[in-house]
Amino acid sequence: MPDPHDQPTEHRIVNPATEEVIATVPATSPAGVDAAVRRAAEAQRGWAALAPADRARLLRRFATAVDAAVEELALLEVREAGHPVGSARWEAGNVRDLLDYAAGGVERLTGRQIPVAGGLDVTLLEPLGVVAVIAPWNFPMPIAAWGAAPALAAGNAVLLKPAETTPLTALRLAALAAEAGLPDGLFQVLPGAGPVTGAALVDHPGVAKVVFTGSSAVGRRIMAACAAGVKRLTLELGGKSPNIVFADADLERAAATAPGSFLDNAGQDCCARSRILVQRPVYDRFLELLAPAVRAVRVGDPADPDTVMGPLVSARQRERVRGYVPEDAPAAIRGAAPGGAGYWYPPTVLEAHQAGPRAAVEEIFGPVAVVTPFEDEADAVRLANATDYGLSGSLWTRDVGRALRVSRAVAAGNLSVNSHSSVRYATPFGGYKHSGLGRELGPEALAAFTETKNVFISSED
Ligand code: ADP
Repeated sequence: MPDPHDQPTEHRIVNPATEEVIATVPATSPAGVDAAVRRAAEAQRGWAALAPADRARLLRRFATAVDAAVEELALLEVREAGHPVGSARWEAGNVRDLLDYAAGGVERLTGRQIPVAGGLDVTLLEPLGVVAVIAPWNFPMPIAAWGAAPALAAGNAVLLKPAETTPLTALRLAALAAEAGLPDGLFQVLPGAGPVTGAALVDHPGVAKVVFTGSSAVGRRIMAACAAGVKRLTLELGGKSPNIVFADADLERAAATAPGSFLDNAGQDCCARSRILVQRPVYDRFLELLAPAVRAVRVGDPADPDTVMGPLVSARQRERVRGYVPEDAPAAIRGAAPGGAGYWYPPTVLEAHQAGPRAAVEEIFGPVAVVTPFEDEADAVRLANATDYGLSGSLWTRDVGRALRVSRAVAAGNLSVNSHSSVRYATPFGGYKHSGLGRELGPEALAAFTETKNVFISSED
């Protein structure tokens, strides 16, 4: 049982661009978690009994409410997470789109009729009950919705535990759900410390499934805790994803797009392409092209629409990044960042010999990439797979056959060829190896929040 004394009674929410306290949010005690689970369980029974068309309609109303609040939600994200406002608007829109997409699935959540002798065999996809979504601080809104939207659509109640540093958008989303007419208690947000509020949720016998996105270390702990209750579990954990640039690639495009692939969200992105692998004949040329592209990234006030990269989310996160790469360490390319208040850290590219052993293999979760040369296709694949992670990756080549071979050979859940896209609400997302367990998003998203029940109906006289 988590100790309620391990957490303060409230969390102070800090604007990472200014270090000003912008809100205080009460933490949920284990007793509060227990009460929330009971309310959610009751709400879920009524929700699952609603006609599918009515559940879909309510979720569309929720989507409409989010749409009307995109600007407000985006500005909250700017203030609590330091995301550039353009990205924050996209994130709020992504929540709306996820809700719409999930609403469309409610009436399409079909089982199967399986040919058997002596009767009729059908499968029913039944909701699990109460689902806990434990969200991280890097993309507080979209990641909360990746779990919550399909879980609700499949007939479950959702208890969302936002990260300590970023609960404000989650709380606003819960208010919008209530305004849209979702039943009381069906979607609740429970702010609080991970080891207390989060652990109480994971351990609660009334929670049927846990969806966790965060660090691999905490993911392992949650997986072990879920074992006790044989709980269903989805894990979206870390990454150290490769960006493989072959000599035959469109080098200009590969270099122009590389900064976005590891600097988006100041590198606090589990899909960040933080290992740039470049075929040796074009290695020097690629670095020559990459340098001005990295230096051109505008780092500054996230509320300014021209800003491309904001601050890191917290002082703690900046200390972590500095622990891997001090800001005065030798670097192949270093961009600029503001001084003064705010958790700033400049875009940084290291050559392999400049990266310490930890920076080369561990997830830094900051705006740092390491560039390494490779010889041939086999060498590229070997380097790409030389990690415990397997979340994302990109490869740049004009050779279609090579694109297919390398896509098959790289052990990662989300690859893109001549692009860095990896997350779309309509396509599955998740990791190989230590990057996770299960998949979110895509056509199967709702099914991941159901139990399959097989029913055989005899046709014997
Ligand atoms: P970070 O260390 O970067 O904050 P975490 O993986 O610790 O990333 O956090 C991701 C989410 O997991 C947050 O919502 C956090 O509060 C929560 N969390 C952390 N520890 C636990 C735990 N022991 N049990 C449940 N949730 C936890």
